[in-house]
Amino acid sequence: MLSYRHAFHAGNHADVLKHVVLIQLLRYLGQKDAPYMYIDTHAGAGVYALDTGYAAKNTEYESGISRLWDRTDLPPALAEYVGLIKEMNPSGKMRYYPGSPYCADKVAREQDRIRLFELHPSESKILEENFRKTESHAAAQGQRVNARGKRTMIQKTDGFIGLKSLLPPPSRRGLVLIDPPYEVKDDYRRVKDTLVDALDRFPTGTYAVWYPVLNRMESRQLPDKLKRLPVKEWLNVTLSVSTPSPDGFGLHSSGMFIINPPWTLEPMLRELMPYLVKALAQDPGAGFTLETGTGLGTQGGARRG
Ligand code: SAM
Repeated sequence: MLSYRHAFHAGNHADVLKHVVLIQLLRYLGQKDAPYMYIDTHAGAGVYALDTGYAAKNTEYESGISRLWDRTDLPPALAEYVGLIKEMNPSGKMRYYPGSPYCADKVAREQDRIRLFELHPSESKILEENFRKTESHAAAQGQRVNARGKRTMIQKTDGFIGLKSLLPPPSRRGLVLIDPPYEVKDDYRRVKDTLVDALDRFPTGTYAVWYPVLNRMESRQLPDKLKRLPVKEWLNVTLSVSTPSPDGFGLHSSGMFIINPPWTLEPMLRELMPYLVKALAQDPGAGFTLETGTGLGTQGGARRG
């Protein structure tokens, strides 16, 4: 059950979509001085080396972040995402890729709070080590790190369960990223059940769910189930980089389902997604869909890029 290692997939097209959206959601929350809480129910290792270990085996980043690395015409949201990764690779060679916790750590401010759950013993150990390194680096640069102990907390427990104890956050402002491996089909059910409970505790929070678009029933049904949750607004964006393979093997498409999205997200994605499709397309089957709605129905209608 805990065989999934995100390093195999680090920096692939699905990570690109997820992390660009994540950074923009956090940026929006950071526009007000009041602190927010970022909760990552499935945090992973935090940082991934691309030239060694699991990531170097599959080199999935070559069909993702690598295709954006040297581009000079990136739309602003993509430029910010690539800029964050360039900062962690000061030699100019892409050696490290940030996971969602690292993206959040870079974007969140001192007053914000970061709460990370990672169940896999090895991954959570690496996550803790990565955060220790970030803190030592910040201290060496003379940056304040004294609030870090409280600012970031890592728990080696089940994120679906742990989330309950954090909602609502004291500031009543927050973003929850739910990004399970979906290796077991129960993950699909748990995503929905967790959201039902979380929305009851914190209805005004923003929730971002990453999901794979696969030819299996649970995957196809998940966005439709999420659309029926009693929420004010939702946004669903998918990115496909190729035609699905005949045997259904491999990940050709993924989505981000956002509950209570900021109003800025849809126009930003309308600008960004056509660019992303062109940059990451592997064949004419590449495209995107973007739709918005309320808990009562769909407003925007799906559009393919
Ligand atoms: N969010 C990370 C990112 O964007 O960089 C990637 C996370 S990866 C897709 C999913 C992670 O969830 C894996 O590291 C896995 O060990 C962990 N995991 C699996 N089940 C979990 C659970 N119930 N609670 C917390 N972590 C879990």
